[in-house]
Amino acid sequence: MTKIPPAVIILGNNSIPVAKKIISVLPGAQLYGLAGRTDDVDVSFTEFGTTLRELFAHGTPIIGICATGILIRTLAPLLANKREEPPVLAVAEDGSAVVPLLGGLNGVNSLARQIGEVLSVKPAITATGDIRFGIALEDPPTGYRLANPDDAKSFMSDLLAGNSVRLEGSAPWLKNSALPIAEDATRVIQITEKQVVSTSSRLVYHPATVAIGITFLNPCLPKTERGSSEEIALVQQMLADAELASASVAGIFASTLDAANPALQEIADALNVPIRFFTPDEIAGVMSQGKTVDVAAAAALTASSGQLVMQRQTSDFSCAIAKRCCFQQIALSPSPININTTGKPRGRLVVIGTGPGGSDWMSPEVKEVLRNATDLVGYSTYLELVGSLSKGKRWHESDNREEIARARVALDLATEGRFVAVVSSGDPGIYAMAAAVFEVLEKEAKPEWQGIEIQVAPGISAMQAAAAKIGAPLGHDFCAISLSDILKPWSIIEQRITAAAQADFVIAFYNPVSKQRTWQLAQAKNILLRYRYPETPVVLARNLGRDGESVQVCTLENLAPELADMRTVILVGSSKTRTIQRCDGSVWVYTPRRYDEDKTL
Ligand code: SAH
Repeated sequence: MTKIPPAVIILGNNSIPVAKKIISVLPGAQLYGLAGRTDDVDVSFTEFGTTLRELFAHGTPIIGICATGILIRTLAPLLANKREEPPVLAVAEDGSAVVPLLGGLNGVNSLARQIGEVLSVKPAITATGDIRFGIALEDPPTGYRLANPDDAKSFMSDLLAGNSVRLEGSAPWLKNSALPIAEDATRVIQITEKQVVSTSSRLVYHPATVAIGITFLNPCLPKTERGSSEEIALVQQMLADAELASASVAGIFASTLDAANPALQEIADALNVPIRFFTPDEIAGVMSQGKTVDVAAAAALTASSGQLVMQRQTSDFSCAIAKRCCFQQIALSPSPININTTGKPRGRLVVIGTGPGGSDWMSPEVKEVLRNATDLVGYSTYLELVGSLSKGKRWHESDNREEIARARVALDLATEGRFVAVVSSGDPGIYAMAAAVFEVLEKEAKPEWQGIEIQVAPGISAMQAAAAKIGAPLGHDFCAISLSDILKPWSIIEQRITAAAQADFVIAFYNPVSKQRTWQLAQAKNILLRYRYPETPVVLARNLGRDGESVQVCTLENLAPELADMRTVILVGSSKTRTIQRCDGSVWVYTPRRYDEDKTL
């Protein structure tokens, strides 16, 4: 399973040297610092408690460079399930103490040892089994699953009380431990991919040595109401017939051409394993060796580098099971399949809207995508606006005008199994990258793009931010018009302004002027004046959520191109839009929800 990288939390700049040392041995770890007290961190936070509880709930390992008490009190309300809690450690600010607090079943002690090593201190490990045998039976390394975790504690107590243990099968982490191993022991640790009976005196570990290959023989078949229950039942039956434990399944493996089939995810979810894909070329490579002509079998063989155990087909579905095997005569168990280096995950492309500027106006969904994405594609100014969330990712910057090329790059990156975030400001679906991605997807339609998981994550658009700053000018019907004539002729724009003015919409003008284009706004104003009062309120909002933010109100009559630039959005009121004087001299602007016809022009 993929592990979430840890968060190292600091409350002051004094902790930075120790934090940097810790991060140097934990790839992907992010430095979280209290705002106002820390500089140069990956994520700056203001609410310690909320931030910590969110990280904990999300399963993120937490390394707090602070007192143990503050961590314990903050997380106490969330302590419910020891199997699920992530590792939580406290580290002294001068690096002199490393104290594992929570997450004993999820590797806190090995994390403490790793941190202790880089800080040259002995970690304060209190779990008895860990100390005596250098091993946590409940927390096997990646690639092994314990079939009977509930027995692990009493099993360890038995060993601590002086019983010895016999190993059946082999795994390097057990062999290299200080366990009291004896051939005649009554306690047994068995390492096997077979479905066997586990008891309180027999711990069973299943190595991830089994690969399930799947292909759909008729991919165009519409998804039916029945879902994938038949396929799931078939896979489970095959495992039972082969006497293999489902806990030994490393993953589902398939061709990228099948990636978009929802049944694949349902089968993987039922077995609680990840899915990895091979390209049609990789599959063809195995087939050309003459071992199989079936895509499912080829995928399973490639993943396991082993031998086929079983293969079955229905009219529209083919499934193959392969497993790693021992190459030597001696009974060395094969190593588990490493899911991180076998095939590629399904590519993801999320077009995100970061809102107009500051992180306060960015949705939690967008922040989550930014945290998890491997690659960011976008105009460099927007990537910079994302700030600390964009650190440690591959950046693919480009000029603001190259939307189509950017969309193509993003789709191609996703076909390589990357998690790509295409970054737009405001909302990605409003004069931004989402439409460009779908345009390229439709027009160029490369077959390998079919498998990508595509999603759009919305953001606050400039017109919404402007409206919120000044009151409620969009309180009744409104429309948006871009004054840029790069992608549409001016005659169309003129026609739309006329129609919108006649219909008495409040109008949000995007791209109102640029260095090369100033006459369009003057022209728009002239059209509007034919249908609207000269004193109609107009809002000019510039650099919303960014440095130099300004929101001004003028009348339609006084609207002039000099008041706007390409970072301004303009809201022109309807015949009903009103202003309210405020005591500081400024005004609120709003459009009432009621519309009485008699008061129109
Ligand atoms: N997707 C963006 C719009 C991109 S078009 C959104 O939903 O907001 C670019 C235009 O958006 C600019 O010319 C300007 O009119 C407006 N705009 C974008 N960000 C802005 C900001 N921070 N402040 C004011 N206007 C902005």
